[in-house]
Amino acid sequence: MTALDQIRALEQGDAFAPRHIAPSETEIAEMLRVVGATSLEDLSSKTVPAAILGMDLSALPPAATEQEALAELAGLAAQNRADIKSLIGMGYHGTHTPPVILRNVLENPGWYTAYTPYQAEIAQGRLEALVNFQTMVCDLTGLPMANASLLDEGTAVAEAMHLAHAATRGKSHLVIAAADLHPQSKAVLTTRAAPLGITVRFVPVASIIAEVTEAKPFALVLQYPGTTGEVRDLTAEIAAVQAVGGLGLVAADPLSLCLLTPPGEMGADVVIGSTQRFGVPMGFGGPHAAFMAVKDAHKRLMPGRLVGVSVDAAGTPAMRLALQTREQHIRREKATSNICTAQVLLAVMAGMYAVWHGPAGLKRIASRVALSARVLAGAARAAGFTVKHDAFFDTVALDAGAKAEALTAAALQRGFNLAAHADGVVGIALDETVTRSDLAALAAVLAEVGGKPAPLDATFGGIPATLERRSAYCTATVFTAHHSEHGMLRYLKSLEDKDVALNRSMIPLGSCTMKLNATAEMVPVTFAGFGAIHPFVPADQAQGYRALTDRLSDWLCRITGFAAVSLQPNAGSQGEYAGLLAIRGWHLSRGDTHRDICLIPASAHGTNPASAAMAGMRVVVVGTDRDGSVDLDDLRAKAEQHAANLAALMITYPSTHGVFEASIREICALIHAKGGRVYMDGANMNAQVGLTSPASIGADVCHLNLHKTFCIPHGGGGPGVGPIGVTADLVPFLPGHPVVDCGGSATITVSAAPWGSASILPISYAYIRMMGAEGLTRATQVAILSANYLAKRLEAHFPVLYRGMNAMVAHECILDCRGFQQGGGVMVEDIAKRLQDYGFHAPTMSWPVSGTLMVEPTESEPKAELDRFIDAMVAIRAEIRAIEQGRMDKADNPLKNAPHTAAEIAADVWAHPYTREQAAFPLPFVKAHKYWPPVKRVDNVYGDRNLVCSCAPLEAYAQAQQIAAE
Ligand SMILES: *Cc1c(COP(=O)(O)O)cnc(C)c1O
Repeated sequence: MTALDQIRALEQGDAFAPRHIAPSETEIAEMLRVVGATSLEDLSSKTVPAAILGMDLSALPPAATEQEALAELAGLAAQNRADIKSLIGMGYHGTHTPPVILRNVLENPGWYTAYTPYQAEIAQGRLEALVNFQTMVCDLTGLPMANASLLDEGTAVAEAMHLAHAATRGKSHLVIAAADLHPQSKAVLTTRAAPLGITVRFVPVASIIAEVTEAKPFALVLQYPGTTGEVRDLTAEIAAVQAVGGLGLVAADPLSLCLLTPPGEMGADVVIGSTQRFGVPMGFGGPHAAFMAVKDAHKRLMPGRLVGVSVDAAGTPAMRLALQTREQHIRREKATSNICTAQVLLAVMAGMYAVWHGPAGLKRIASRVALSARVLAGAARAAGFTVKHDAFFDTVALDAGAKAEALTAAALQRGFNLAAHADGVVGIALDETVTRSDLAALAAVLAEVGGKPAPLDATFGGIPATLERRSAYCTATVFTAHHSEHGMLRYLKSLEDKDVALNRSMIPLGSCTMKLNATAEMVPVTFAGFGAIHPFVPADQAQGYRALTDRLSDWLCRITGFAAVSLQPNAGSQGEYAGLLAIRGWHLSRGDTHRDICLIPASAHGTNPASAAMAGMRVVVVGTDRDGSVDLDDLRAKAEQHAANLAALMITYPSTHGVFEASIREICALIHAKGGRVYMDGANMNAQVGLTSPASIGADVCHLNLHKTFCIPHGGGGPGVGPIGVTADLVPFLPGHPVVDCGGSATITVSAAPWGSASILPISYAYIRMMGAEGLTRATQVAILSANYLAKRLEAHFPVLYRGMNAMVAHECILDCRGFQQGGGVMVEDIAKRLQDYGFHAPTMSWPVSGTLMVEPTESEPKAELDRFIDAMVAIRAEIRAIEQGRMDKADNPLKNAPHTAAEIAADVWAHPYTREQAAFPLPFVKAHKYWPPVKRVDNVYGDRNLVCSCAPLEAYAQAQQIAAE
């Protein structure tokens, strides 16, 4: 071997895959022995049906090291023109992410690796951050109730339309929208309306009142300020739609609301918008947190998650997700929306931006932007341009006529992108990053093109006195208490410490795939070359992004076996919706307008029926047999019964019960024979990659959750990316975009941005690039091994509900806890809460089967961590047995009282029949690494009955405590 060959061999030690896949060779061998397999290949053949086993990923690029992948991504970032400032506006603006938030939230695994706060006790930190966000949104919009984020402004507009349609009980099927709505919102709205039989009419601003009065729509959608920057009083327009029984929906810019009369004070029923410019980089379109605020009457129709303040078992205020009965996991096809993963991390950032700046700081930023716009408008007038609207906040629209092209070209020369609207209108949208020297450069552009001097010494236009905001906002203490950096740093840390995230312990949530989010995958997300790019920049300014999305799409095609992939859907639920629209489009294109039946197994995730309903399909539920598989006889009967109208089957593979159904090929063939298409829910793709593929199994469409299988962190409940892959004949029905050519259909747009949440795609890119074909395949094998290892080690203590061939499970397993209710009165929830005392996040609880826990360990959990989890579960089983055998009290025991807080363990009085040590330190490893839940069990019923979604009660409680202490 030459020296260079030796160096190459030594470089193998830098490989990424063995860092991602935690168990060592020796540990894998040990685990294989436990599950009764001789090798990983042997395990694959024992688990995956032979008919579908086999996959060739050799077309993927060879595995890169962390350094190589980082260098490659830095190269791609450098191909994006972050040096050009985008003053395009249209819903996306430059912003400064406060560094204290950048490093301590966005770049901090304590925040970005957390899961959706369903287990409230271990999520009080992010729940409080979300309550801050909701409070901020309520204050800014002037409405009493706001949710904890939506996916983007375009989909928020569409969600508001749904809400209005439901609130008005379908009296009308017409929605009128102002012509100055952002074009991407128009496209998403139109896409959403079509399958529901709703008509959208876009009306010039001047004729809104007349049209509304005449046509009596169920909703009127307004943009505030309009897409070219115009600000006007909306009171009369909102009153007009309310007079005909409809709702007034306003899409508003939150920074403008710091200075403008809020839409709520103009009578709006619903206000939506995006909080992107509150410290979240544009990122070529996302992710950002959209919001929705509503009048009290509509709170039960609100889509997405809502954080409410309740109390814990000791009466202390505690937060949890409220009104979950609205959501898809309970209401299925009757849910208010299909949203599951939303934009929690970005909502946390936007809320913290308000905490950091406070009301005075926000007003200062908004005032500087507004004044800059007025000065620029003055300069434009001096240079001979006509300013289109006198009333504006941050955007100067110029009627540039024949000079429009020269103006945008001259601006580009000096490093600015302006918006080229129709009819020679050029928009210049200012933001907090625009400096005085930028203004000087822009004035020079105006002078050059206008042919007259453009001094920055006079202002023109701005916010009319009648629209100046008089009411206060962000008045809660939290928005003024943390303005020093030390104060902010410690506030962020105090919240982070309340929560369990992946940097503390494993989060074995079945179906959610809480795997490693490697640091090297995360680093590129905050490269400037990815952050500061407006989604509507000319293609030549986003070449790095285009190369990244092209390559990632190609790799995902190889992995799924499909002809093409769309990266536009920004969550799994949106992928489902987009995929069903593709199927719908295909049927319609063949004249099959009647095909609208969607078969969905009873065990399907709630987003499936909710998405089908949104796509205008009628859901027919297919039963499950005793092994947890789709009941083939029932499927055959229903496919036959609905053959004439069959549109699709939605099926999850491996099934939501965690098994590879042997009959999957047969199932797909059956649907195809009846003229339907197969939609595969790819949430469980972590059990397929490298072993089999959706296309080879027989699916026509499949969504992937990049935030599950492909390492995008869950962010505490978002962001996510839900790309869809499709067969060749469905490619024309993939989503397109009205502003940017990203391929796809001209009539289908499912997200505001052409490539959805583009700025987090580097994470999945890095993962695939660093794992390579072998690493990806091995990850799947070890994920299956870990699940089978857990099932095997726990089966003597907890019955494993379903198994596939050779009594194996796939990448997750369901532990049946229903039997403990009889003898000891122990409910599955008690086990979930008791796990918190051991420092673990509970597995998925009561889904897909009530009274069970679904455990998904993933390939990236070290064996030692799996063993700790097993020890905890076994110890909990022993505690249950003590209750069953009467050695422990049925009502007063460590399970019923779980979780235990430090305050009660340290209190002078301890009135329980078990010891404090047993309560707090039940196993030696717990003592070494104790996590203290900050609250006791949270009361859900109380919170829903006394719905409060702002910080007020928390602050009142803190004050009362203070007074009591004094
Ligand atoms: C997570 C999940 C979904 C929904 O995906 P989101 O990204 O949360 O919208 C759908 N189906 C299954 C089986 C899932 O596990």
